[in-house]
Amino acid sequence: MNLTGKKIAVLGCGRSGVAAARLALAKGAAEVCIFDSNPQATCNDSSLNFVPGADEQQARDFAADIVILSPGIEADIPWTLAFTCAGAPIVGEIELGYHFYKGRTIAITGTNGKTTTTALLEHILQQAGHSAVACGNYGYPLCELALQPEQPEFAVLEVSSFQMETIHDFRPEVAIWLNFAPDHMDRYTKVEDYFNAKLRVFENMSADQLAIVRVGENLPGLTPRIAEFSSVSDSGQLSYKNGSIMEGSRALTSLRGTTLEQAHNAENAMAATLACRAVGLRDDEIFAGLHSFCPPGHRCETVAEIDGVLWLNDSKSTNLHSTEAAVRSQTRPIILLAGGKDKGLDYTAINPMLAEKARCCIVFGQIAEQLCETFSPVCKTIKVTTVEEAVTAALGEAERGDVVLFSPGTSSFDQFTGYVQRGECFRRAVRQALNL
Ligand code: ADP
Repeated sequence: MNLTGKKIAVLGCGRSGVAAARLALAKGAAEVCIFDSNPQATCNDSSLNFVPGADEQQARDFAADIVILSPGIEADIPWTLAFTCAGAPIVGEIELGYHFYKGRTIAITGTNGKTTTTALLEHILQQAGHSAVACGNYGYPLCELALQPEQPEFAVLEVSSFQMETIHDFRPEVAIWLNFAPDHMDRYTKVEDYFNAKLRVFENMSADQLAIVRVGENLPGLTPRIAEFSSVSDSGQLSYKNGSIMEGSRALTSLRGTTLEQAHNAENAMAATLACRAVGLRDDEIFAGLHSFCPPGHRCETVAEIDGVLWLNDSKSTNLHSTEAAVRSQTRPIILLAGGKDKGLDYTAINPMLAEKARCCIVFGQIAEQLCETFSPVCKTIKVTTVEEAVTAALGEAERGDVVLFSPGTSSFDQFTGYVQRGECFRRAVRQALNL
């Protein structure tokens, strides 16, 4: 990508936008300006040209040669398109970073498990003595890595469907597809659009590269080599049985007692294992990393175990698929706490599993009524308003041997600023209720 002499509009003034603007300048762009539609937006680098509150007229007047898009901004809204009126291509921040980053790239996508797997891969590679940095959706913007004078050997890149909408040549050495389920239906009109956007991660890969895919995902027309894994089937290269990762009938390593023991995390561990093998790590290095990994918070993390009741915080569960995974992974009777913003998802698919594994569901937030109607035919369901009330109700319902699983199954924006604030609210409420 030749930026010499080009006029570049960078959309979005967050960390990715600032890194993209700096990179464009460092690579010879004649003029770079960051635009943000929010009049209150601020840019933390005063040396960069910055226009907060930019409108569509200003966008057209700038007449960019190239438009660089930050991850949070949609490519097909009128504001973004106004910048392209003179025929400028839209280039995602990842695409820009990819062109100038000189190391090796492992990409991770899927509806759930991306961050866990990204953090896990970074950990294993670092433990094995390699320089590796988590980036993309989690960690550093790729453009920031590309700016470093000494670039790390590996970029472990979490990519979302939105970021894949604006790639052109992006081609990772290894790409992981963890799973797929409907999500983000507030952003996409059709599930196929979400699926096809994600699928673009493989678009430029050839038979020299490796796609790591969960068994049964049905991905059409892949050109890279494929390695498969699953915790429910043994037809892939790696499977999961009695707490161990299996290769055929051979147990490779046990995950019992590690943070990756639950079946959905074991899938993340298997995907990471295949990726690390592909880039040349030995199994003993990989397994040492699996065993010492500490996942990021709010993902089925233990808050307390008191009077025989286990309290788990899975606030990062923002769709039905992650709640299903959390429910499936439990071995004790479940008191499920779910609810939050209405994202247009249908929850009936979880009913058979709830009928089998849940003793009670406690529902809260904007979709409480919908969840109550959905779950009550198969399971005792209690409707409340807040997370604190849900914890109080759970305390009343839980019996020795149960797990209280806070796995909301939708986003938190009806009541919170994000999943972190929601998870902290749950932790606090549990500690208060249990006098910890
Ligand atoms: P993402 O970055 O894709 O949102 P996270 O690692 O942050 O993924 O996890 C999001 C949610 O999905 C959490 O509730 C977590 O417990 C659950 N989860 C993690 N890995 C998997 C998986 N492989 N399959 C299904 N759910 C998963």
